[in-house]
Amino acid sequence: MSAADNLAAVEADITRACQDARRPRNSVTLIAVSKTFEADAIRPVLSAGQRVFGENRVQEAKGKWPALVDEYPGTELHLIGPLQSNKAKDAVTLFDAIHSVDRDSLCEALGKVLPQAGRTVDLFVQINTGEEPQKAGIAPQDADAFLVACRERWGLTICGLMCIPPVDEAPAPHFALCAKIAKRNGLSKLSMGMSADFATAIAFGATHVRVGSAIFGHR
Ligand SMILES: *Cc1c(COP(=O)(O)O)cnc(C)c1O
Repeated sequence: MSAADNLAAVEADITRACQDARRPRNSVTLIAVSKTFEADAIRPVLSAGQRVFGENRVQEAKGKWPALVDEYPGTELHLIGPLQSNKAKDAVTLFDAIHSVDRDSLCEALGKVLPQAGRTVDLFVQINTGEEPQKAGIAPQDADAFLVACRERWGLTICGLMCIPPVDEAPAPHFALCAKIAKRNGLSKLSMGMSADFATAIAFGATHVRVGSAIFGHR
C-alpha cells in the first residue's frame, strides 16, 4: 500500500466513524503526522489532496516544510510535540496551530511572540489525562485554573484541548475526561486520537485526529 492508498483508507475510516457518531464529516480534521519522514515521502500525500500536517519538532519542520508549503499552497501545519520556550518565535512563524501548550513559561513566551507574529495560531492546551510523570501536559485537576491563567494572565486565546492517553490503557476514559474538561471550560476543539484509536476518539468528540503511521508507515 502506498501512502496515498493509506490516506484513502484512513479517510474512509474517519467517514465511517463520523457516521456512527452521527457527526458531519467536516466536524473532524485529519492531521497527517509526517514527523521523521522526508519531503519525498510527504509529497505523494500532498498530491493526493491532504493539506493538514503535523510535526513534533520545530527544527525538523523548519528544514522540510517551507519549500513544500510553497509547492502546495494552502497547506496547514500543526505542532503536536513539546515546545521549548526559546523556539516559540520560530513556532508561531511556521505553524498554524500548537497542540502542546503545557506550562506558564511557554504561555509567557507565546504571549510575547504572538502579537509580533501578525498571524493567528490556534492554541490547544495539552492535558495529561493519565497523570503520567514522564508525559507533558496539565494535570486534569489543574486544567480549569490553567485555562483561566492563559486568558487572564498571559492574554492567550485557547481554542481547545489535546491529550495522549497512556499506551497501556483503554483510551476511551481519557478521551471522555478530556472532552468533559473542554466542555465545562467552553472550548470547542478536541485534539485526540492517533493511528490506533482515532475512531474511538471521534466517538468521544475529537475535532482533530493526529494520524501518522497509518498513513506514512512505521517510523
Ligand atoms: C507521533 C504522534 C502522533 C501520531 O502517532 P501514530 O501512532 O503514528 O498515528 C500523534 N500525536 C502525537 C503527539 C505524536 O507525537
